[in-house]
Amino acid sequence: RAKQQGRNGYVIFDDTLRKVAESRMQMLKGIRTALNHSQFEMHYQPIVSLHDNHIVKAEALIRWRHPEQGMVSPAEFIPLAEETQLIHNIGDFAFTQSLDTLTQLQHLGHDTQISINVSPVQFAAKNCTLASWHDKLTTLNIAAKQVVLEVTEGMMLHNDSRTKQRVERLKQHGFQFALDDFGTGYSSLAYLQQLDCHFVKIDKRFVDSIATNEDDLTLCETIILMAHRLGLRVIAEGVETATQHQLLKQAGCDFGQGYYYSKPLPQNEFLALMTEKSHIAVA
Ligand code: C2E
Ligand code: MG
Ligand code: MG
Ligand code: MG
Repeated sequence: RAKQQGRNGYVIFDDTLRKVAESRMQMLKGIRTALNHSQFEMHYQPIVSLHDNHIVKAEALIRWRHPEQGMVSPAEFIPLAEETQLIHNIGDFAFTQSLDTLTQLQHLGHDTQISINVSPVQFAAKNCTLASWHDKLTTLNIAAKQVVLEVTEGMMLHNDSRTKQRVERLKQHGFQFALDDFGTGYSSLAYLQQLDCHFVKIDKRFVDSIATNEDDLTLCETIILMAHRLGLRVIAEGVETATQHQLLKQAGCDFGQGYYYSKPLPQNEFLALMTEKSHIAVA
């Protein structure tokens, strides 16, 4: 196609490539600056038990408060960080901050779990920092079972022995695992069994349509039944309405997460909520 445009075509093509490479470099530089200048923060989204609406867990979600661009979505910078060592720094940051939150929850007398998103790249890398996580917990007197590691099926796609060993090791230490975004991509029964995790999270895109599409409701019900038969408990993500909440509860889903209960909150707001009531009033 470039040829048809003549010599200028090549120039434009080169120019585009150069711009892509430049913005990549800018973003990577920005991530480094963000790490060094405390521009990252963790927000915590409550996860409620559908039996009694108590907040029993929270998912830690990273936020980048950029001095000029405002809030930058993790969807923009995580994929780029995954191409470099920076994903390990980000992972360690998320873990360290979450430990601080767990310590404060402990002081409030709550045994709330915090779940942390861990990239497949962290598991597969030759040098990864995950091995140090257990020591950090021990130093702070926090039980590993308070921490849930959210992984995606992308991790099992490669299925390398290093990843498997690391997962095993962390499980032996008592970390719990959740399979995130279930129902998207290639997730299957086989992954559920292979990973042998504690929780499965039904992706928002199914929860979105359970009130309007009977097939999606059936799908959610089936995932829940299947997960229970395999000894896993189920978290529905992206619950936004009372109807979705009711349908999921009726289907036997164990936990709910979504704007219907609460948006992700800065640490101080999350801890204030836990101090005040630690449950969510629902219809
Ligand atoms: P995820 O792990 O599937 O997280 C759920 C996403 O859904 C979050 O987006 C959350 O804010 C959003 N969400 C929750 N409830 C609702 C709802 O009711 N409605 C709508 N519209 N959205 C809802 P967020 O925070 O933008 O994160 C996007 C993705 O970035 C996450 O997807 C996760 O894969 C990744 N991510 C976030 N924090 C981290 C981190 O610390 N480390 C790594 N490796 N990845 C992270
Ligand atoms: Mg997640
Ligand atoms: Mg998810
Ligand atoms: Mg998702």
